[in-house]
Amino acid sequence: MTFKLETNLKSLVDSVQDYCFTNGLIYFRPSENINERSNDLANQLPVTLFPTIYPRSEFQYALSIQTEFQKMIFQISQDYNFLKEALKTVIQVDDFTKRLWNIYDQVHTEGITQPITLGIIRNDYMLDQNKSIQTSPTQLSQIEINTISCSFGAATSKVSNLHAHCLRITDNTEFLSQLAHNDNLEILAKGLVNAWQMYENENSILVFLVIDLERNIGDQRLLEYECLKLNSKLKILRYTIQDFAERGQINSDKTLLIDGSEVGLVYFRACYDPNHFKSDQDWNARLLIERSKAIKCPNIQAHLVGAKIVQTTLFEPGVVEKFVQDLSVAQKLRATFVDLYSITKENLSQIIDLIDEKSDEFVLKPQREGGGHNIYKEDIRKFVDSLSDKSDLMGYILMKLVKPYTNENYVVRTGEQLAKKSLISELGIFGFYISNGDKIIQNQTGGYLLRTKSFDVNEGGVATGFSALDSLCLI
Ligand code: ADP
Ligand code: MG
Ligand code: MG
Repeated sequence: MTFKLETNLKSLVDSVQDYCFTNGLIYFRPSENINERSNDLANQLPVTLFPTIYPRSEFQYALSIQTEFQKMIFQISQDYNFLKEALKTVIQVDDFTKRLWNIYDQVHTEGITQPITLGIIRNDYMLDQNKSIQTSPTQLSQIEINTISCSFGAATSKVSNLHAHCLRITDNTEFLSQLAHNDNLEILAKGLVNAWQMYENENSILVFLVIDLERNIGDQRLLEYECLKLNSKLKILRYTIQDFAERGQINSDKTLLIDGSEVGLVYFRACYDPNHFKSDQDWNARLLIERSKAIKCPNIQAHLVGAKIVQTTLFEPGVVEKFVQDLSVAQKLRATFVDLYSITKENLSQIIDLIDEKSDEFVLKPQREGGGHNIYKEDIRKFVDSLSDKSDLMGYILMKLVKPYTNENYVVRTGEQLAKKSLISELGIFGFYISNGDKIIQNQTGGYLLRTKSFDVNEGGVATGFSALDSLCLI
């Protein structure tokens, strides 16, 4: 099954770019001067020309387990002792995770002031050639779960429409009905606004906690504007953690205030990377927010559940089953797992042997988010050799590489010639949950994100420049 391409290529690329600019599929280019916002320098986000042909049953499988994954994430976030044990080794060597843990530890001791939380989750998979349909109910392999700052949730909703447009102008209209529906933008906005409403103060603001000079502005602003459509009283303001360090306060009843406004909900689109914290004051501000009675998306413990070591712990026998009582559900979740190894004092030398023997089969991941941090294949061995203290490896996890199917498609990216390439895709399923105390009160599957990149590129990520936004054409 292929899409025909007989149109004039130049006018086609122009048309794709026009669509992207008109619909907010844009991001700011890296600025020469990193201290200045480069308003006049936006690029279209890289997109594929056509959607990717994808098995409907696999897409549905991923959708069908999303709320179960979300329940499990919530249950784990409620289990202090489990998280403590899971993170124990990592926090000995990884200062960033340790600082996050310390914040959790402190608010846990003091008592949680806000029982309501919002989780916006994205669960990422690749369709894995190494997984046999004879032995597994799915060929999806989970890459990771994101519990903080899941990006492209808004932009992705525009990509199916872009592809509908591309199919029309290239005379491939017979595929239009197979495009997967994607109302992720509306669903995430609903999650944010529902949670903000539960704060029960119409004068409180919803804060998008962002990094200064954010480049992925289209995605964030689309979500903001969608939220504003849902409640005429809602006011959304963008602040950085540095703003909170300078001007944030909590009063005696734990109300969070900034510039005279009461904060109802803090939606984190930052604070998932050590570089987002410039000083100890910024860390104090993160603690201040956590201690306050503002609702957080996510709260600190749900953020920690996204650590790669937690994913690795879940892989161990009996761990999913601790949180998911229905064994048939637990099996459905487990069917998406691939081999994962935590690295401890006890198994350190075995892991180093494994890397020596089979480096090519693995990716080594630190407890980081946002792409660009992993070490792949042959480089793992070199990296291990370069470590003077091998116990630094305990901050990482080792994961079996997934072998995704390839598809032929074109990527439309600024400054690049349109050429047919062999590409691989990563599917992300979004959703949100709202909890109150120890109960989930709303749990909803959202839409999806498809990111597609050259078959020979290890890393992922659109903002990092590796991947293009894509959509699904289901068969
Ligand atoms: P991050 O939290 O930084 O996004 P990921 O675990 O998602 O970290 O890894 C980044 C990228 O590396 C993924 O988007 C994917 O392209 C690639 N990747 C990660 N794990 C695997 C794996 N097991 N097999 C193949 N590719 C992987
Ligand atoms: Mg991630
Ligand atoms: Mg990722």
